[in-house]
Amino acid sequence: MAATSPYPHLFAPLDLGFTTLKNRVLMGSMHTGLEDGRRHFAAMAAFFAERARGGVGLIVTGGYAPNIEGWAKPFAGTLGTSGAARRHRVVTDAVHAEGGKIALQILHTGRYGYQPLCVAPSRIQSPISPFAPRELTSAGVERQIRAFVRCAKLAREAGYDGVEVMGSEGYLINQFLVTHTNQRTDAWGGAYENRMRLPVEIVQRVREAVGRDFIIVYRLSMLDLIPDGSSWDEAVTLAVAVERAGATIINTGIGWHEARIPTIATSVPRGAFAWVTQKMRKALRARGLLIPLVTSNRINMPEVAEAILAEGCADLVSMARPLLADAEFVNKAHAGRRDEINTCIACNQACLDHTFQARLATCLVNPRAGHETERALRLTPVPMTRRKRVAVVGAGPAGLAAATALAERGHEVHLFEAASEIGGQFNMARRIPGKEEFGETLRYYARRLGLTGVQLHLSRRVAAPELIAGGFDEVVLASGVRPRDPQIAGSDGANVLSYVDVLLHGRAVGARVAIVGAGGIGFDVAEFLVTAPGHSPTLNLHAWLTEWGVADPASVRGGVVRAQPAPAARQVTLLQRKPGKLGKGLGKTTGWIHRAALQMKQVEMIGGVNYERITPQGLFVTYGEQRRDGQLIECDTVVLCAGQEPLRELFAPLRAAGVKTHLIGGADEAAELDAKRAIDQGTRLAAAL
Ligand code: FAD
Ligand code: NAP
Ligand code: SF4
Repeated sequence: MAATSPYPHLFAPLDLGFTTLKNRVLMGSMHTGLEDGRRHFAAMAAFFAERARGGVGLIVTGGYAPNIEGWAKPFAGTLGTSGAARRHRVVTDAVHAEGGKIALQILHTGRYGYQPLCVAPSRIQSPISPFAPRELTSAGVERQIRAFVRCAKLAREAGYDGVEVMGSEGYLINQFLVTHTNQRTDAWGGAYENRMRLPVEIVQRVREAVGRDFIIVYRLSMLDLIPDGSSWDEAVTLAVAVERAGATIINTGIGWHEARIPTIATSVPRGAFAWVTQKMRKALRARGLLIPLVTSNRINMPEVAEAILAEGCADLVSMARPLLADAEFVNKAHAGRRDEINTCIACNQACLDHTFQARLATCLVNPRAGHETERALRLTPVPMTRRKRVAVVGAGPAGLAAATALAERGHEVHLFEAASEIGGQFNMARRIPGKEEFGETLRYYARRLGLTGVQLHLSRRVAAPELIAGGFDEVVLASGVRPRDPQIAGSDGANVLSYVDVLLHGRAVGARVAIVGAGGIGFDVAEFLVTAPGHSPTLNLHAWLTEWGVADPASVRGGVVRAQPAPAARQVTLLQRKPGKLGKGLGKTTGWIHRAALQMKQVEMIGGVNYERITPQGLFVTYGEQRRDGQLIECDTVVLCAGQEPLRELFAPLRAAGVKTHLIGGADEAAELDAKRAIDQGTRLAAAL
């Protein structure tokens, strides 16, 4: 154990017999989109090499299909030929040159394949795919096994240190394990011994094919989070069997993709599922099996990882998105610089949401992720002679990103912020129950401002004359937005507040509330108002598990029971003018969670309204074209969350005075603004100046 490290368990090497991992960090598999097609190999090599240089013990690639039937989507990354294996050499060589190790994930999506050639144990369509799978014949099953084996051999040929067999999240192997997707009557269905034959055969035959000195990670679904999922005994039986079949490491899978319980979103408590791996580890150790276990999900800071390992929950921790957010995570932790880590806030906005939109994954807090080779994001130092004095106005995400990146390049940067603290709207976001992580971004930037030498001027609302007199070479306006006034009659009443009043200024809100506007902020304000102060379930694992209905898998198959949410702190009605379902514009992979969370608290969601007037009794609305027969939504408080408008009064006078002025973030464009765009725009501008 590395006694001098602040995280001795995390930095203890792991001896696998034929090879040693330098620490306990496994970079979990993430589909970035770089796997698909041939043109991204150089970018993928740079991406993984940066993480290897950053100190990761073992990297696992995004999923590669072993054959066409296993494709996640048409033409998804596949490793099925020696030609393909040769192309991977650039990746494995780059990682090895940095002293890293890398395994290739073999992913057969089965009925989750978003493509017409998908196959499954039985012809039962998944609720999240429009394609009905073809039922595999016995020969077909055999063909899939051979494809896994061929893929593993090719991975070895390509220079990988191992493979991960993806056996969880509801993909093909998982589909064989449970009866609701496997209704076969042959040797691959029926009794559990038959249903689990597929993974066991795969691991056994892969081991025979690749030899003893090659890592085989088996990702095992320990908690399916679907009704009729695997029982705990079945999960343990499988773990024992794959260990005997030759697996080197067992990784933890939590939840099928079709599960209706969040598993990695920001509202999931940190390390929320480590107890599941701990339970498995105890069960295996009780049988004398010492195979290393990896735990995963919402581990995003070194102290979380260290505590999990110290408590004996696992032998390694898997972190995926945290290494998108900061390639240097491991080295920073090792050097005792945890306060410099750019923490993954689990928003999914630039990683998973992109993947589901067929875009390359990147990271909201680190736009360079996945774009390591892109010049427009390279922060090259400027020579002394080209150094500029730059004023940045506004220390929200856009201004913070621009200021720190400019200073990192060597410019003299003055950052002016009207408020007494940095962060802009993130100071409201971090107050939302379930969004506490957003505070980490501000901790990161506070440290980064100091490290890069930005001169920070807090409580300084600057005006144009001051900036003109300041003699700056460039001014970056990152002054953000103002809330839109929806111009509803009576909105000047004492019972009407804006989201800023509620979230930032702590103004008192009554027991019955109507919220005008159901965008991201309307949803967040609703969450804030239905949660009793100090009772965010995200900060209390037991409360969170109860709220979502997650149980010990030893007591119920799949670990799902009836959700038991805490009572709502207020009665809330959420409104929008657009007809149809509320929250359509929320994140692709998180919108359903926000909707489900509010439904659990009986928040009434009404679309297609016209706001007529606000009186002391509440809010009058009408529906459709006929603006008669208004309905009174009785409430004590109306909260306005009706969107935002750019705040850029300084722009015209600065430009008129001949000052080179740039607009970024909300000051540039408030429509469809989010922190992803704000940070990306700030970083790109800084790289260009
Ligand atoms: P802002 O954050 O608005 O910052 C502008 C800053 O400029 C402010 O601090 C202001 O005080 C300062 N300023 C203005 N004028 C002056 C002046 N003259 N002199 C000095 N300083 C000045 N986005 C997401 O991507 N994901 C989310 O989950 C998310 N959740 C949110 C939840 C809530 C409750 C809120 C309110 C916002 C959320 N957002 C989220 C939106 C996100 O915070 C914004 O998109 C982002 O903050 C915009 O960054 P910005 O730097 O352009 O502006
Ligand atoms: P938004 O998403 O654009 O929503 C604005 C809401 O106000 C909509 O419901 C809109 O719906 C309504 N509205 C617009 N004009 C109105 C008017 N004149 N009168 C009454 N209602 C009006 O903006 P936001 O909620 O203010 O959020 C700001 C930004 O922060 C968003 O762009 C979002 O990306 C980001 N954010 C993201 C998250 C997240 O989870 N990713 C969370 C919070 C914020 P109708 O027009 O149908 O009434
Ligand atoms: Fe984490 Fe959000 Fe970045 Fe994804 S986009 S890696 S969830 S911070």
